[in-house]
Amino acid sequence: MSADEPLVRVDDLQKYFWENDSLLDRLLGDEPVPVRAVDGVSFDIYEGETLGLVGESGCGKSTAGETLLRLREPTDGRVEFDGENVYDLGGDRLDAFRNAAQIVFQDPFSSLDPRMTVGDIVRQPLDIHDVGTDAERREGVRDLLERVGLSADQLDRYPHEFSGGQRQRIGIARALALEPDFVVLDEPTSALDVSVQAQVLNLLDDLQDEFDLTYLLISHDLSVIRHVCDRVAVMYLGEIVEIGPVEELFEAPKHPYTRALLESIPRASTDERERDRETLAGDVPSPRDPPSGCRFRTRCPLVIPPADLEIDQDVYRVLMTLRERIERRDISLESVGEGNRFETDDGGVPDDEVPAFVATLKARLVDVDLPPRHDAVVEDALADLAAADWEAAAERLQAKYESVCERSHPGLGDDGHPVACHCYGEASERTPEPATWR
Ligand code: SF4
Repeated sequence: MSADEPLVRVDDLQKYFWENDSLLDRLLGDEPVPVRAVDGVSFDIYEGETLGLVGESGCGKSTAGETLLRLREPTDGRVEFDGENVYDLGGDRLDAFRNAAQIVFQDPFSSLDPRMTVGDIVRQPLDIHDVGTDAERREGVRDLLERVGLSADQLDRYPHEFSGGQRQRIGIARALALEPDFVVLDEPTSALDVSVQAQVLNLLDDLQDEFDLTYLLISHDLSVIRHVCDRVAVMYLGEIVEIGPVEELFEAPKHPYTRALLESIPRASTDERERDRETLAGDVPSPRDPPSGCRFRTRCPLVIPPADLEIDQDVYRVLMTLRERIERRDISLESVGEGNRFETDDGGVPDDEVPAFVATLKARLVDVDLPPRHDAVVEDALADLAAADWEAAAERLQAKYESVCERSHPGLGDDGHPVACHCYGEASERTPEPATWR
């Protein structure tokens, strides 16, 4: 492998889980539904570097880590380790890969077998792979415990006798037992007290130099990522949306999701706390039915309006959220008004009550002042809802407000700091302003 070749190359990796896929479901004629946990992820990791993989809980980052280690079989895609596709490996070459690529799990409480002594836990990989003599294994375990900051005298103790930080050190010693080249660190400090998190991160940093390790650090915690990583890949709903050098990404984030994540970091200074902040609205959509186009569009404060539409960005965001709720039929028409005063059935509310119904619903759903031309469109759509005609309401709003962000999936570019957002692509209809966001 030459110096400019990556140690790990992940190419269009997919991992779907399937629902409605049992024999009974098939007999009943139900179609299997894919849950797209990892959906076309690509990145490289170079020897000796730490790549961070960051995103909210449930974005697929841990599944990506486990799949690239072949702890899970992929749905599609390719992972090359040292130039070989790991999904093609078998026999001795698969064993060699499993030795060279290890994982440290998030939870040091459940990842250690409580019935085994610490010595046996750390030694287990050596026994499984039949490395060295009995005496060499025992000596190797003593050495490893000392190198992760524990005492060789603690060999015969059990996990429950150790603190959380010490248990994570045991997990790290176990991962290093086979002298790997590459380690996936899956939220290695998130289950630990804040006071010991820095100690464990510093230990991982020291061990990286000592053992010539390459890391993939999976974390939802941007402070941890900034402290440890060389580059960062940001993941949202099964996809990578931005990759860049750590300082560049923190100082000049490009993707609106990255910016929102950075905004969510608690600030120490009053000035910082009081400045205007862009916050993320809405929940993460389900990976069973991800949004079309850009997956972040249902929450993106910068979702792009049609080029010929004059509209404030804030107003457009509110109208897009209204549209999405109508498309999902996520508005309770039965409870409109005090004491559910509008009776809606299949035929909708009576004609003479429609204006009051529309006004009440608009006050509940639209919390910005609408210019008259948009107000009229919204009122017409809400009148469609008064007639219980969800489709007409959705079509009316789509005809007026459809965004490039829902029609077209933004690909990740391939420059030094790629980003998957139409603000930066060929379809861009606006000038991105990353420097003024924060
Ligand atoms: S493509 Fe559109 S919705 Fe997606 S991040 Fe960019 S501006 Fe936002």
